[in-house]
Amino acid sequence: MIRIALSFDNGPEPDVSAAVLDILSARSIRATFFVLGAKIATNEGSALVVRAARDGHVVGNHSYTHEIPLGDDPRTDAVEREIVATERVLEAMFPGAPRLFRPFGGGGKIGPHLLSSSAARYLTSERYTCVLWNDVPRDWEDPSGWAERALASCVEGAHVSLVLHDLPNACLARLPFFLDAARERGASFVTEQPASCLPIVEGVATTDLAAITKVG
Ligand SMILES: [Zn+2]
Repeated sequence: MIRIALSFDNGPEPDVSAAVLDILSARSIRATFFVLGAKIATNEGSALVVRAARDGHVVGNHSYTHEIPLGDDPRTDAVEREIVATERVLEAMFPGAPRLFRPFGGGGKIGPHLLSSSAARYLTSERYTCVLWNDVPRDWEDPSGWAERALASCVEGAHVSLVLHDLPNACLARLPFFLDAARERGASFVTEQPASCLPIVEGVATTDLAAITKVG
């Protein structure tokens, strides 16, 4: 068995996300969209995220501005401005939905820069699930070659949390090829993330959060 939990991060983008949704819908594939608060606060962005949810996709919080990883962010109100502000927009659209947060690392790096200690406290006390990743084929740097790199992860037994981006000049052009080729290799697309990519599940830490939290 090969399982791929697909995510599309940093959107929604008017010229890209609708096309991604069409491609997924034509193949009955469900994914997770980790959206930016600043983008879903617009009418166009909110219509796209509502459509994603209606199509059966999972929607999660990926910060408001995606500018400085939370562990490196010097602002004392960064949690409020980045996580809470985005959640407020999401909760107005999807009351009662499970709270998912994906921190961002700058190029997909995992380390203590991902969270501040106040962010880690907030996510646990507010019963969030924190979703990391284990495969970043760098679609934003290589809109063509990412697909072959992602296919290389399709090996028997793999459960991949694959990070793609619904941004201009990222995954879109080769997404149909990738999805079809992965299925030919026996992969199924799931929304369940690998347990090893979930350091916090509904507020409960499953691992030592020091690995992803800057102390201070
Ligand atoms: Zn991101």
